[in-house]
Amino acid sequence: MNKKYTRGSFKLMKSMNRSIILNMIREQGPLSRADIAKYTRLTPPTVSNIVKELIEAEFVIETTQGASKGGRKPTLLEINADHFYIIGIDVGRYKMNLVVTNLFGQLKDSAELEIKENPTSEEIINTLQQGIHQTIECGNLPPDKFIGIGIGMHGIVDTTNGISLFAPSFGLHNIPIKEKLEKEFNMIVKVENDARTMTLGESWFGNGNEADNLVGVNVGHGIGAGVMINGRLFHGENSLAGEIGHVTIDLSGPKCTCGNYGCLQALAGGPAIAERAAKELKLGKSSLIRELVDDQLERVDGAIVYEAAKQGDVFSIELLHQTGRYLGVGLTNLIHTLNPKKIIIGGGVSKAGQFLMKGIEETIMSRGLTDQGRETLIVPSKLGEQASAIGACVLILEEFFSQK
Ligand SMILES: [Zn+2]
Repeated sequence: MNKKYTRGSFKLMKSMNRSIILNMIREQGPLSRADIAKYTRLTPPTVSNIVKELIEAEFVIETTQGASKGGRKPTLLEINADHFYIIGIDVGRYKMNLVVTNLFGQLKDSAELEIKENPTSEEIINTLQQGIHQTIECGNLPPDKFIGIGIGMHGIVDTTNGISLFAPSFGLHNIPIKEKLEKEFNMIVKVENDARTMTLGESWFGNGNEADNLVGVNVGHGIGAGVMINGRLFHGENSLAGEIGHVTIDLSGPKCTCGNYGCLQALAGGPAIAERAAKELKLGKSSLIRELVDDQLERVDGAIVYEAAKQGDVFSIELLHQTGRYLGVGLTNLIHTLNPKKIIIGGGVSKAGQFLMKGIEETIMSRGLTDQGRETLIVPSKLGEQASAIGACVLILEEFFSQK
């Protein structure tokens, strides 16, 4: 791998003007040098010099494609999207979802990495390292074009040091992801909470564009939110911001994995849906679910409830409707706390969106304080199951296109 070159690439970006021009080409390109000078108010020679450097560094290429106002087609500039690649990994409960994107967030490769049961910190690091080595060395993309690795990790993350402070699904603390991966691969590594990377991914390449105040809610085994305020992810003082899975919805509700009672996650997360279904079925409720699990109620999970609902099972449809109402209370709390323009729903449970949405919307309509609050846009994730992993790539893109 050409390590020196990668390091140099980031050094070059420290210049403010270079970064402004690069971002302008990314957001509005293809553009001519004259357009850039006009929009940035930099002098044409300054623009020419910087563009020359960007072309030499192969960040930008010239193209003659594009609109012509008669006469000779102007030479336009665009991002050299396929000259660099980024690895993004979403570390879930049972598996890691790995993707490779180019500078435009377009998917170039993907893989699933299995996680051992009850893994140690070393095993998590090993799985990450093996998956990354495999992708770089055995994939069909040139190894020297990879410039960084982004990780979306469930739980609480120290983003400054790239440490997973607490990963509840593994019961692990203080996994030094950034340190270990940077040592192994000698490229930039960034680590962030998975709900936040999902929000970042949707903001750059999904349904969140044009919303500077945005919340992405990841509804899966657990429930977490990525809060974006004025275009920047908000972490709070100790990275706890957005832990809406542990907002209390019902004081006398079921016990949550965190020890409290009636948390949103204990009412609307995947396992909570399965538990409520199994409990009612044990009491004798009739449902298609019985058939789907051969009367083995311990096999009921969120996916089976969804499957039964799709087949028209009234019990399952009502159960998901109720789940939507719980989510609606959680989202109303978010609306009243943060007043976002948009809320994006992703994660495994969101696959059942068609059955959840009614309950969500009814609840927000009946509880929202103002017309505008009640009309807050609630939309599904566009990037779906890849959202957190693609968002992990954006951690590196942010750095690459950084205006610092
Ligand atoms: Zn809780």
